[in-house]
Amino acid sequence: MADGTRRTDAGEEGAQSLRIDGARLWQSLMDLATIGATAKGGVRRLALTDLDRQGRDLVVGWFREAGCKVEVDGAGNIFAIRGGRSGRGGNAPVVLCGSHIDTQPSGGKFDGNYGVLAGLEVLRTLNDAGVMTHKPVGVAVWTNEEGSRFVPVMGGSGAFAKVFTLDHLLKQRDADGVSFGEALTAIDYAGDAPMGELAIDAYFEAHIEQGPILEREDKTIGVVTGALGQRWYDCVWTGQDAHAGPTPMEARRDALRGAARFIEAANALALRHAPNGRATVGSLQVSPNSRNVVPGRVTMTVDMRHPDDDSLLKMDGELREAAAAIARELGLECELRQVDQFPSSHFDRECVAAVRRGAQLLGLPHRDIVSGAAHDAIYVGRVAPAAMIFVPCKDGISHNEIEDARPEHIEAGANVLLQAMLARAVS
Ligand SMILES: [Zn+2]
Repeated sequence: MADGTRRTDAGEEGAQSLRIDGARLWQSLMDLATIGATAKGGVRRLALTDLDRQGRDLVVGWFREAGCKVEVDGAGNIFAIRGGRSGRGGNAPVVLCGSHIDTQPSGGKFDGNYGVLAGLEVLRTLNDAGVMTHKPVGVAVWTNEEGSRFVPVMGGSGAFAKVFTLDHLLKQRDADGVSFGEALTAIDYAGDAPMGELAIDAYFEAHIEQGPILEREDKTIGVVTGALGQRWYDCVWTGQDAHAGPTPMEARRDALRGAARFIEAANALALRHAPNGRATVGSLQVSPNSRNVVPGRVTMTVDMRHPDDDSLLKMDGELREAAAAIARELGLECELRQVDQFPSSHFDRECVAAVRRGAQLLGLPHRDIVSGAAHDAIYVGRVAPAAMIFVPCKDGISHNEIEDARPEHIEAGANVLLQAMLARAVS
């Protein structure tokens, strides 16, 4: 351990006066961002590539320097544990935090990396202050959160929470036919820690918001209460291909017109379920896609989200009604098929309260917020009490090389993480 001589038990008051080192955290973020750095200031570090190995080696080295025991499981998830009075992690439940360090193909410096390095900064802060917590504290680095090289997304945390089996995960192949298992072995991160057996007292994940709400409202901390439920659809509009000249307007069965109206209808219904309803048409294929042919067939996707499952079900009904009405009116056929569904998730009340109290204690402007995106915390939350802390990111932009965040917000979020973890770990 880094602090053998002056370790003291943290009383509640002593714990509340602790602060992380914002400059050190920022430097760690910038150092990790050099691995896979892109010309435009972003990061390209896809899961289980050699760059991912380099990133992992750097972070694991930092964990070891901080005196942690480091374990790796069969999905390559990394756990760095700092022992407490109640044990070194063996059976004593760990107050855990974490996130991921894989990025999108043109990703940024903060998505995921922030949650991991804020956790590292918490451990360093406890070492500097010589604090001995009652429960062990730790940081998790989850494998393949982004899902851009391998599907499923949140692969490591999903296997940990037994949403799917490790075997299923290891068999998944990337676009070049390389399996998850082969890639994991190639970078030497197939560990032997038993899958999903780490006992977790609570899990906290700090993350940039990836949306515009905190910045717009000038709030430093988002107290994340849960995440939107999602329904994904495939939709096919069928009319008839016809010549753009000889076919009179009233005789057409234009599938693209149906699709266009349907996009508007989906947006309007999401607005009727404001402020948290979402509907997105992100993909459209027009056939035959020729400038002088009335399109006879269009396939499209719809992604609908809402934090309340009953409202999402209502939105589903409204979407189906809209499709039927448009099809009738334009003489088209419409096949609307739901292809996937994720129920909404609600984080643990006590963990959420610990985050809110942390923000209050530090005098930071904060608000409750619902996550529009999925995160590792959602899967971990199925097997342990969990919550998340959001900080603003510039213009709400993420999954982009220009993703940016302000050092003072990064520091504030890590201080809230420290307080939330200590609230669980000192008692
Ligand atoms: Zn992320």
